[in-house]
Amino acid sequence: MIRTRFAPSPNGPLHLGHAYAAIVAHGLARARGGEFLLRIEDIDGERSRADLAREFLEDLAWLGLAWNGPVVAQSARLAAYADAGEHLKAMGLLYPCTCTRAEIAKAATTIGPDGPVYPGTCRHGHASPEGAAWRLDVAAALALAGPLEWVDELAGPQQARPDLFGDVVLLRKDAPASYHLAATLDDAADGITLVTRGADLFAASHVHRLLQALLDLPVPVWHHHGLLVEAGGRKLAKRRGAPSLADRRRAGEDGRALAEALRAQHFPAGISLSAILHEEP
Ligand code: GLU
Repeated sequence: MIRTRFAPSPNGPLHLGHAYAAIVAHGLARARGGEFLLRIEDIDGERSRADLAREFLEDLAWLGLAWNGPVVAQSARLAAYADAGEHLKAMGLLYPCTCTRAEIAKAATTIGPDGPVYPGTCRHGHASPEGAAWRLDVAAALALAGPLEWVDELAGPQQARPDLFGDVVLLRKDAPASYHLAATLDDAADGITLVTRGADLFAASHVHRLLQALLDLPVPVWHHHGLLVEAGGRKLAKRRGAPSLADRRRAGEDGRALAEALRAQHFPAGISLSAILHEEP
């Protein structure tokens, strides 16, 4: 049975782009007789807001999207992230890093999918673990895991290229885990068989595939859908004035009609679906 999920982060209200993402995940599950889960990605302590997470449930109900089972929150799973971190440390694959963003930007010589690629400054044991972030030694991890493949339903089979990101942070200084570690562990714990999300996270799946190999987790299939973009191609963002679903709901708009329109890919004027982007290594 297939199981998909919608995994919003409660650090800003949901807008039309999120509604589309939720509709894709829900629609794929329903069309194939599967399940659709809702997961709140709330480990970003400073930015996560419980009031927004509560609004998300109302937004989805307003759109007519029912989810299966209880809502999962990442904040309830911190022990699992710490355990996986310890496991990877014991395998000798993580190292502490105290470099600042500015130092990395200055020393970096390549730009990866997430910006400047960490040049490996602390890889050979220079940093004290006190207050450090922990990075994955990607070359060592790949040597252990060997070549890996993963499949996106839309883009086809992919050769995993986590090296494009450099040594990613898995345990953050300021949060219990990085997105990569938490999302990968959660998708496994939740039995997600089809990871459905926007094409802006396509490249992240290279890293997730490597983590699955290292942590002996099941390997799902991915479905990276197109993003809703404004004229000019930028993705919708609250800070650029995309109205929140909560505001539209409170203004009395019909959420189910909106969901129907999105399902039929009828978007408001000036908004369209981007071509499916996917990075070629
Ligand atoms: N929490 C992420 C976001 O809100 C989504 C992560 C995912 O779907 O893997 O953009």
